Formats: sequence, C-alpha cells, structure tokens
Amino acid sequence: MDAPVVDAEGTAEITYGPPIAMLAEITHRCPLSCPYCSNPLELTKRDGELPTEIWVDVFRQAAELGVLQMHLSGGEPASRRDLEDLVTACRDHDLYSNLITSGIGLTEKRLTGLKERGLDHVQLSLQGVDAEMADLIGGYKGGYSRKMDVAGWTTSLDLPLTLNAVMHEKNIDRLPETIDLAVRMGARRLEVATVQFHGWAVKNRAALMPTREQAKLAGQRVAEARERLKGVLVIDYVPADHHADYPKPCMGGWGSTGLNIVPDGRVMPCHAAHTIPHLVFENVRDKPLADIWWKSEAFNAYRGFEWMQEPCRSCPRKARDFGGCRCQAMAIAGDAAATDPVCIKSPLHAQLQEAAEADAMSDGTLTFRTMPV
Ligand code: SF4
Ligand code: SF4
Repeated sequence: MDAPVVDAEGTAEITYGPPIAMLAEITHRCPLSCPYCSNPLELTKRDGELPTEIWVDVFRQAAELGVLQMHLSGGEPASRRDLEDLVTACRDHDLYSNLITSGIGLTEKRLTGLKERGLDHVQLSLQGVDAEMADLIGGYKGGYSRKMDVAGWTTSLDLPLTLNAVMHEKNIDRLPETIDLAVRMGARRLEVATVQFHGWAVKNRAALMPTREQAKLAGQRVAEARERLKGVLVIDYVPADHHADYPKPCMGGWGSTGLNIVPDGRVMPCHAAHTIPHLVFENVRDKPLADIWWKSEAFNAYRGFEWMQEPCRSCPRKARDFGGCRCQAMAIAGDAAATDPVCIKSPLHAQLQEAAEADAMSDGTLTFRTMPV
C-alpha cells in the first residue's frame, strides 16, 4: 500500500508505508496492580507467552519491514528473564529500544547490563508524587522508593529518561507537583496521559473519571508548564477525551504508523483492538509480520476512508483525526465503523458526556488489577 489512499471525492488522502514503531508486549505479568491498567481482562499466562527465539526473529522481521523504534512493554517487561536477549536483538537489528517499565524487577546491576547490551531509553511509570499516593495506586508497597532509585540509575548511566504519569480523578489536582518531580528526577520528557478507559480501567470508571473542571485546569497547567520549562522538560499531553469536543487521531490512523504484538503473538493495530469482536488478529507464530501488516484483514479494516459512515465520510477533519478511536466507537456505539462518540458531531456525544459527568461525580471504590498465575 505504497500509494496514497484518496477518498471518493478526491478531497483527502493518507499515504501508507511501513510501520515506524512497534510495541512489543512481551508479558502481561506485572508486580503492580494499577486500577487504570489498560491491559485486557483476560491476560496471557506465562506459558502462553512467545518464547525468546520467536521474539528475536520477530524483531528481525520488524527491522526488515521498516520499524525503527521498539518499545518493550507489558505488563512489566523486567518480569521476563530474557529481557537482556531481547535488548541485544534490538541492537543487532539497529532498532532503537525503549524499556517501558514500572521499575520493579530492575537493579542497578541489571540496568547497567541492559545499557551495555544496547538499551537506548527508559520510560518509567509514575503512579503518584509521593510514596503514599504511588504505593496506593500501584498496589505495591515500596514501589515509589524503587522508582526513585531506577530514575537515579538511569540518569547516572546517561540513558534518556521519560516519565509516564497517568492522570485521573485521584491525582490530577497534583499535576503541578508531578511536573516539578519530573524536573527533579532529571527526566527529559514527561507524558501526562489522562486515563483512557480500555481493559481493566473500564472497571474503575466511577473511581477514576476526572471532572470537566479538573480536565480543563490540567490542560491550562500543561500549557503553562510547557512555556515555563522550554529547554528543560518536554511535556506530552493526552487530554481527557470524554470531556472533549473532538476525538484524538488514534494511533495516527488505523494501521498507518505502528503495530502492537501481544504476549501470545497476535498482531494488532492498537493496544485495545482485541475489543472489536469481529476482527481476527493473525499471529507471528503462523505468518510473516510483513504479510500481516500489508495484507491482513484486521489491518486493512479501517485504513483509508471507504469504511467511514456519515458524518465522518464528508467531514473536512477526517484526514486529521481519522474518525477517532475505533475501539471507543465499538465500546459506546456498538459499531467500530461509527464516528467516535467523543466527537461533537456524533449522535452519542451528549450521552457520552453525561455518563462521564455522572461517573466523575460518583465515588467509586478502586478495583485493583489482578495477575495471571
Ligand atoms: S498499568 Fe500498572 S498494572 Fe498495568 S501493566 Fe502497567 S504497571 Fe502493571
Ligand atoms: S465527524 Fe468524524 S472526521 Fe469529523 S471531526 Fe468528528 S470524528 Fe472527526
């Protein structure tokens, strides 16, 4: 699909090439129990995970396909004893490797060894700005202290550090402290990601949904901090889409720039795509990665514009946001080809916002993620 895909009126086009980035979810195992976890309810157990040799071969195939960045994720990727071999495979195939971690399972010696094997970047999750909040949300006593250690080892090793802070009703008011902490920890980049309701997080909508006012204030605080910290800290921001008027350009367009491989080897266009029940996701155990990217039904299902319904089909924003998130359309409209209900032009927009307000006003209790054995 090297040629541009143009809509019927010739007014919008998208060009598809090879993927740039791959998210390798090498395990679902994780010592933390975050209530906002977007991993699916049905987790892959250890004996269902791809073995080392298949991951290594998949990394080779990814590099040949054109992938430049390999995000090693989970679950907690440090839960796998072969993480070192996987980082080595990234280096062998000139893939920029990013370790997305809670920090638990890393020691100074292990991190040093990973750097020696070619690790390029560390992305550390931050569940709170102090031990009380972080250990509560992560469901792991001592997690905050270990994170501080990991951040220190990372910067001492001259590895670039990004922090990922999921913001929700319980911590969004402490965003200024989160930003200050990121600066103190020596991070180069902070991702302020308002909670997305996929996977386990759906169970915690009432406990985690921020109010409209909280979301608006967070946006203002990010804008102010971006200005103030130019040259010190880059801040990425995922706003609270349930309180927005237009959807985000989910994945930069379905099957356009990135792909995910889940622990059992199925290949998906995004992290939550398994929630679309009629799609069949092919597995790297059975098919070459390039065939899955270019030819599989699931990857081609929502590429281009032909699949769109009104109001997206004739909308001037369609090459900007691609109609929003297919998984959110599935979850709320019951149709993955519908306009994302976040959009003000969706007939479900008012209903979505009312439900978000109701959840934001209610006091749900946190349900912590449980792990497969
Ligand atoms: S969100 Fe929390 S529980 Fe889920 S994988 Fe990440 S660290 Fe583990
Ligand atoms: S109608 Fe569709 S394409 Fe237009 S802004 Fe809304 S989601 Fe985007």
